[in-house]
Amino acid sequence: MISVNKNYANLKDSYLFYKIAQKIKKYTEEHEGAYIYRLGIGDVSQPLSASVIRALHEAVNDQAEKKTFHGYMPECGAPFLREAIAAHYAKKGVNLKTEEVFVSSGASDELGDILDLFDKSSVALVTEPAYPAYVDANVMAGRKILHLPSSEENGFLPPPPSEKADLIYLCSPNNPTGAVYTKEGLRQWVDYANENKSVILFDAAYEAFIEDPSLPRSIFEIDGARTCAIEICSLSKTAGFTGTRLGYTIIPSELNREGMNLNAMWVRNRTTKTNGVSYILQKGGSAVFTEQGQKEVRELISVYKNNAKRLMRAFDEIGLPYFGGKNAPYVWVKCPQNLTSWGFFDYLLEKICVVGTPGSGFGQCGEGYFRFSSFASEEDTEAAAKKMVALLKK
Ligand code: PLP
Repeated sequence: MISVNKNYANLKDSYLFYKIAQKIKKYTEEHEGAYIYRLGIGDVSQPLSASVIRALHEAVNDQAEKKTFHGYMPECGAPFLREAIAAHYAKKGVNLKTEEVFVSSGASDELGDILDLFDKSSVALVTEPAYPAYVDANVMAGRKILHLPSSEENGFLPPPPSEKADLIYLCSPNNPTGAVYTKEGLRQWVDYANENKSVILFDAAYEAFIEDPSLPRSIFEIDGARTCAIEICSLSKTAGFTGTRLGYTIIPSELNREGMNLNAMWVRNRTTKTNGVSYILQKGGSAVFTEQGQKEVRELISVYKNNAKRLMRAFDEIGLPYFGGKNAPYVWVKCPQNLTSWGFFDYLLEKICVVGTPGSGFGQCGEGYFRFSSFASEEDTEAAAKKMVALLKK
């Protein structure tokens, strides 16, 4: 008889966004015609930009002609896209070799798949509150997890702990708190990882939202990171690729552990477990890194930044303490009237049909907080902001 992976029995029974969807379903069934203002899930609302659409169309046409048709793509990514990404990093002052850039189908896929590189006995450390997939992927793998809580006191940016950990998850700008590590804050983690021979999985999915030029947009802006870090990034939030799917992972050639090279291991993994990302998507993705593509990215992001500003203005008016929002698409709010995170969720849904994400879904230390996403439409954000002021302003 087959033996299944029993670690799945240790997963929390319901995934955060599933539970939210269930609550909305129940509410709309009981309140026919109710319009829900969805400021919860971090999915984008703006369409792909003109350059990306053009590149996608052209790539489809390429596939129609014998001369330009492409079959299997190289498993680690098309050279044209790997080079475009490396050139993009060079503009941030980070020099990468093309072979250090791996094209992926998105950050989520990579965050799960990359665990193949590490033994089950490695201890994972998750700085919390955190994107729930970090914990769940390690529970599935049966790994021991250290939960490192953060709080208002450390600006939701915890320094390294005294105990040792092997696989360290850092997300900056952070989902859900919107907090961003400074170079000095990241340097402490890089030193810790090099000393302990750990590996940092640096989730840079929201790097494009950083507007303060003193804040690092890549962990490789920090000296020493090339010997201890892997960076996972995505075009989902940068360029609206949530439904299109494209990301990239950086594994420096100097990253060795126990006599093995992690870049070479990942090449072996990809060439075994994938047949590459589609030519069409990689062409579309490469348009993001052109000068015009970057201009369009900034326009897209400015829509979300205006939404975040609109939300922050509302919370200022209400007098509700909040974090993030400036260099990140999320505004992390302290729940009013000592409500729990789910208590505030139910209150907003029942009273004004506004949906956010309960902070407790991102780890225990998120209890009493609530995440608002700036990715909704401008109209919904404006209406929800007004409704929240009317409901919560004393
Ligand atoms: N990492 C973080 C922190 C996220 O918030 C998300 C999605 O919301 C992802 C990764 C997943 O990104 P992708 O759409 O590229 O899978």
